[in-house]
Amino acid sequence: MSERATCVLCPNPSPMTLDGTNTWVVAEPGSTDAVVIDPGPLDEAHLARVIAEVEQAGRRVALTLLTHGHLDHAESAERFHELTGAPVRAFGRGHNDVAPGEVIRVGGLELVAVATPGHTSDSYSFLLPADTMLLTGDTILGRGTTVVAWPDGHLESYLESLRRIEALTQTGQVAGILPGHGPFVEDAAETATFYLRHRAERLDQVRAALAAGDSTAREVVERVYADVPRTVWGAAEMSVQAQLEYLREQPSIDD
Ligand SMILES: [Zn+2]
Repeated sequence: MSERATCVLCPNPSPMTLDGTNTWVVAEPGSTDAVVIDPGPLDEAHLARVIAEVEQAGRRVALTLLTHGHLDHAESAERFHELTGAPVRAFGRGHNDVAPGEVIRVGGLELVAVATPGHTSDSYSFLLPADTMLLTGDTILGRGTTVVAWPDGHLESYLESLRRIEALTQTGQVAGILPGHGPFVEDAAETATFYLRHRAERLDQVRAALAAGDSTAREVVERVYADVPRTVWGAAEMSVQAQLEYLREQPSIDD
């Protein structure tokens, strides 16, 4: 998988979080500093397990990064800072924000911040060049597809982010994906392409639903998302809202 990254799985499984939140511990071999990505929800036992994982390797947490602000990734950020003393960095928090393309160096480890908005406006992925891995948070998951969390999420931004990730696979900078939920993704290129194709198919289905007379997001969900469990229809409705917004923003062929 990855020589530098290990996963500590948080026990918060649900239809939205799959097996639970993946908290990633990343460190350069031989270094005493570790970076923790997404400490997860406020779960004291989980945070203790993450710190134990770091300390068992003879390391300390030197930096915490957040892929985005959703509670299942970031709720424990302040508490984790109290426990470790390590700074917490993310995008859109208004202080010490990560920047697009920023190279983050910790104890010989190098990570590159890649802006991947769309799931949320503050979503970032982190490239681990030495292992050709991309830590994607919720932008690409280990199983299934993700939600564009409208109104903060934005489909056009999300498609651009997927193309950015696809380009990183085409240049050989990214081979695999370490996602925020679900298992390790071995073939990042295939998965990025699948995500783009899936979004295009859903858009075609939404266009067809509108042509068939559906007018509300709920009606579109009932037609287009009939194949997904009802427990995630709330999330599907957000995705449909994002798609309706996208279709309104795109210049029509008739114009
Ligand atoms: Zn999320």
